[in-house]
Amino acid sequence: MEATDHLKASLLAAIALANTFGSTWRQGRPAAEPDTAAVDAVLRLTTNQAVDSDVSQWALGGRRLYDALVFLPEGRVDEAVEVVNELLKATKAAPQLTRHADAPWHLHFGDPDSATGWIAEFVTATAALLGSNDIHRLRRCEATRCEDLFLDSTRNHTQRFCSPPCQNRTKVAAHRSRTT
Ligand SMILES: [Zn+2]
Ligand SMILES: [Zn+2]
Repeated sequence: MEATDHLKASLLAAIALANTFGSTWRQGRPAAEPDTAAVDAVLRLTTNQAVDSDVSQWALGGRRLYDALVFLPEGRVDEAVEVVNELLKATKAAPQLTRHADAPWHLHFGDPDSATGWIAEFVTATAALLGSNDIHRLRRCEATRCEDLFLDSTRNHTQRFCSPPCQNRTKVAAHRSRTT
């Protein structure tokens, strides 16, 4: 895996962690209380390693990541930067070459065995997004009763919904309002 691929995977994990702790509505339903399984699912987006997924270790970082990212679709980049810089400092994010068992050396931005280390990694991935042309790809779902953030992966930047269920709900609602 290329170093930049790893950071890309960590960005997707960062957005997923932000949604897990920051969204109050997700895909039409009130957000579930985050549990260990939810955090594990986030981590699997970027690592196969076992990490302590005691929910309390992730809650504050997840919420602050959401606070930062949710500014972007509104074009409030300076405010996002403020939160990201604060998180970089708080998690002591710093590049370090790490090796797990017999795997090759690769770059991490925090201790890969701890929640704080992964949040440092996620914040670094978010910081890389803020400094790139992809910053406009970070969107908030346009469906009602959904606050999830997502990275628009379409070539012409036209993705409006976080997921097919949200797209379908919106379509059905629009159809209903036309026919009644
Ligand atoms: Zn690693
Ligand atoms: Zn949605």
